[in-house]
Amino acid sequence: MTATPQQDDCLFCKIVNGEIPSERVAESDRAIAFRDINPAAPVHVLVVPRRHEPNVGALATNAPDDLAALFELVTEVAEREGIAEHHRLVFNTGTHAGQTIFHAHGHVLGGKTFTER
Ligand code: AMP
Ligand code: ZN
Repeated sequence: MTATPQQDDCLFCKIVNGEIPSERVAESDRAIAFRDINPAAPVHVLVVPRRHEPNVGALATNAPDDLAALFELVTEVAEREGIAEHHRLVFNTGTHAGQTIFHAHGHVLGGKTFTER
């Protein structure tokens, strides 16, 4: 059992719990980081709160300490992956923005020069 709010049939809750495997690169008591299965850049890591919230706005409203912890883990990942100086952090909210997994997550992208906005 876990005290962290989770949701049945949420892929990222299952990755947090270890029910579904992932290539974990870092973790803390409030967040985990693992490689995206379909990378859009040489470094593409997802940083995910252990707590289930549907998007980053809900996370900010309902669990601001978890959002702060997520950002701390982003910094750690960027340093470990050698992209601290140059990286992109993306949060998609809603299907029209490209969100496909409705458990808050940031995409940490780097290792290339981004030309598109
Ligand atoms: P988004 O489109 O912003 O909701 O991002 C979801 C991301 O999760 C996509 O970049 C997918 O490639 C990634 N993804 C989906 N399933 C998995 C998985 N099992 N392990 C790692 N990444 C995944
Ligand atoms: Zn979830």
